[in-house]
Amino acid sequence: MSVVENKVSELLKNSKNIFVFCGNTITRDIGLHGVLSEHIAYEVEDYYGYSSEELMTENFLTRRVKLFFDYYQNIMLGTKDPGIPPIPRYIKDMQERVNIGSVITNTVYSLYEKAGCKNVISINGTVEKNTCTSCGKVFDAEYVRAHRLIPHCDKCQVTLRPGFTLIGETIDNGLMSKALNEVEKSDVVLVIGSSLRDKVFKSLIKYYTGDSIIVINKEELFGDEIANYRLYGDINEIVGRLRDDIVKTVPVRDKEEADTEDTKERSDAETDTEKTTEETAEETADKKDN
Ligand SMILES: [Zn+2]
Repeated sequence: MSVVENKVSELLKNSKNIFVFCGNTITRDIGLHGVLSEHIAYEVEDYYGYSSEELMTENFLTRRVKLFFDYYQNIMLGTKDPGIPPIPRYIKDMQERVNIGSVITNTVYSLYEKAGCKNVISINGTVEKNTCTSCGKVFDAEYVRAHRLIPHCDKCQVTLRPGFTLIGETIDNGLMSKALNEVEKSDVVLVIGSSLRDKVFKSLIKYYTGDSIIVINKEELFGDEIANYRLYGDINEIVGRLRDDIVKTVPVRDKEEADTEDTKERSDAETDTEKTTEETAEETADKKDN
């Protein structure tokens, strides 16, 4: 481990409440393109005749529904069984040993929940919870993928509503308030695979009062100067080394004790939710980095 990695590892071990923010670099690596798929923007526009920013809107969902779901099924869910990438699993291992209070992500594939992480907030929603607007039944990503045309509710035959925030839509206020409360009470902020200029992250970091922002990414990006510790390179390897060091030196926390803390934190967050709801109303889903 490098000198900075050692410092970061110590910081994580001694923190009382770590706020983890995970971006889309982590999911792209396994072929999950996200809602916007900016890295293949040219191919998308060439094939569909529209950009992903136009396709993933309410307008297309209601008026050009075939194109909407073609993109959803073939671009967003185009990779079958991508598995869980290393980082969600590393975070789970670390969360069992150090005080990671919450994991916030702007990605929409529910990978952190699947890896077993606790207190995950998928701020932009998830592809795993598509709903029937008539009866409210929920359908997972596999159901959407398996329908080669427009996916309908098997009971009502109504077109499903995607479980993620569409472009131009406002981020769910409840989720945003919850995330704000989490960052506000944290002493360490750990950002993995995301720009610090990500719209959601920028709204959240305003509420952080500490002096320990850590960023781990492939390369330096504009805006990284607000971080107190920066680690660049292969993010799987860097987080892997931190995880190994923590696993080697910190025992798994007593399960009961960890659960009690979780419950306590969650009820605290619920009490605080109301006061910030108004403050977040202005935040909209520009989703530059999704
Ligand atoms: Zn239904």
